Amino acid sequence: MAFDTWVWDSVRQAYYWTKATVYVATGVHFTTAGLKADLCHEIGHLYGIDDQYTVGGCASSPNSIMQGAHLDGQGRVDCQTYCPPPNYTPICIYAPTSWDTGRVNTYWGQGEAKNLSAVPNGSQVIITWDDYSWAENAYQLYFYKWNGSSWQYLTMVAVSSNTGSHDTVINRTISYVWTGSGPGNYYVVVKPYFIKYGQYGTSQVKTFTLSQKQRWGWGVRDCRDPSGFFDFP
Ligand SMILES: [Zn+2]
Repeated sequence: MAFDTWVWDSVRQAYYWTKATVYVATGVHFTTAGLKADLCHEIGHLYGIDDQYTVGGCASSPNSIMQGAHLDGQGRVDCQTYCPPPNYTPICIYAPTSWDTGRVNTYWGQGEAKNLSAVPNGSQVIITWDDYSWAENAYQLYFYKWNGSSWQYLTMVAVSSNTGSHDTVINRTISYVWTGSGPGNYYVVVKPYFIKYGQYGTSQVKTFTLSQKQRWGWGVRDCRDPSGFFDFP
């Protein structure tokens, strides 16, 4: 059984993971390998991944240390186990698998913006990404435009993204609408910035094209109508 402790920092507007404790029940007996496997399982909980078995069963997937415990002939926990097809014969797991490390990497994510998209909407573009980061951070968006011979840096936009408790972080989607800078080809670099550490996370890049002309003004004098103005179509 594992417990973790979170503290809210009102200045940084973020939660911090400050303490974790794993309890091993005294009434349960383990082999040495089984105890190590169980501790790996509990530490997995602390890192934010859930059980991958149904009560009383041995799930057919995934191949994960987060599966249930297996008992040997003497009633001792000797490993974690899962039951893959086609035979569903229990297979012992003693350490985190690639599924586990992959999931933790995604969960903590190094602050990466996942599933980044850039969808034009008239003269604007809607930048959307999933925030998998877990610590204090703010995203920075860098916009570039093709000027016919090279990419030209235009502007940086800071998008604040303070995280909540770890249960609410996964798959939280952030959107930002950028006003654009006329028709043309663009790309945006999205990267998290960890204020506390002064470090950037991994950059993600997306290209997009804006085709609709910007409306530069509402009134243009028209010689055909000396009395006034007309709107751009
Ligand atoms: Zn568990």
